[in-house]
Amino acid sequence: MRDRIYTNTEVSDYLAERLRAMPKIELHVHLEGATDAETVWAMAKKNNVSLPATSLDEWKAMYAFRDFNHFVEIYIQAAECMKTPEDFTFMTERFLKHQSSQNVRYCEVFLSASLLIQKFPFDEIIDALQEGAERGEKETGVQIRFIPDIARHVPETSQGVLDFVLAGQKKGLFLGLGLGGPEVGFPPELFTEVYEEARKSGLRVVAHAGETVGPESVWGAIHALKSERIGHGVRSVEDPELMDYLAEVQIPLEVNPVSNYRLKVVPLDQPHPIRELVDHGVFVTVNSDDPPMFSTDLNREYLLLAQQGFTWEELWQLNKNAIEASFLGEEEKQAYRSEWNQSY
Ligand SMILES: [Zn+2]
Repeated sequence: MRDRIYTNTEVSDYLAERLRAMPKIELHVHLEGATDAETVWAMAKKNNVSLPATSLDEWKAMYAFRDFNHFVEIYIQAAECMKTPEDFTFMTERFLKHQSSQNVRYCEVFLSASLLIQKFPFDEIIDALQEGAERGEKETGVQIRFIPDIARHVPETSQGVLDFVLAGQKKGLFLGLGLGGPEVGFPPELFTEVYEEARKSGLRVVAHAGETVGPESVWGAIHALKSERIGHGVRSVEDPELMDYLAEVQIPLEVNPVSNYRLKVVPLDQPHPIRELVDHGVFVTVNSDDPPMFSTDLNREYLLLAQQGFTWEELWQLNKNAIEASFLGEEEKQAYRSEWNQSY
């Protein structure tokens, strides 16, 4: 059994129910990491991929991560089980059903494109994702757009990922370019040129930073990449100057509390630094990252913050922040603002 994450406040069933019913937007969740262990196991069998486990239970037990690198290892093994474009149609449709069960209305979802582009011709995988998105949207009403990302430990895939993003952008399915994978040893500055090209081509740009590396990684994402949002960014609390800067320019952070506990970015017996970020006036959103891999979902993320003392008003503000930080057009944002205001 996993260790308990720090909490200090009892949450009533009434508040938990209100959080569940709150309409939500999610901006930091990985499609491959949002695929549950059962589905990965079934895909491995179907596609004749061998996993380093002799049973589903053993495979599930591997989701107790020792550290970030161990997590990346398991994540890549899971992603390697997805062998056909139809697997991605299935995953997307299933993902939207899961999002719908938490009353998520819209999501911007990462794809591990450095792996994908080695497996499939661009058109095949884009069509498969589009089919999953359309089917899922029809069934659930949940809207999805993708942000394919470069895995930073394979920087040689950068140009290929950019070409892939541009192909999907033409179909209205991809919003922009992301940067994921291990931060240690692969600073944002390595990706300056590909980000510049992406921005010139009209893509939105985001990057993971300040998760396993400290403030210098966040500064790099801001200055070298001109990232429009920061994935995680929680280690910004280590640099008072950066905290002031983030509060001043209001670059949104995509914070994923449970992920930070599971990967030991934050100690289990400590409150999450999101409190410090919010109190300092930093623009923060709440997200679930790789939900089944971390035994979480977006509801549980909000619930955890309530259990760490966030008020209903504060949680609601974080939820509103997600509309503003999204890459939706002004008209679409306005529609969500109205819907949110009616639900509050
Ligand atoms: Zn992430």
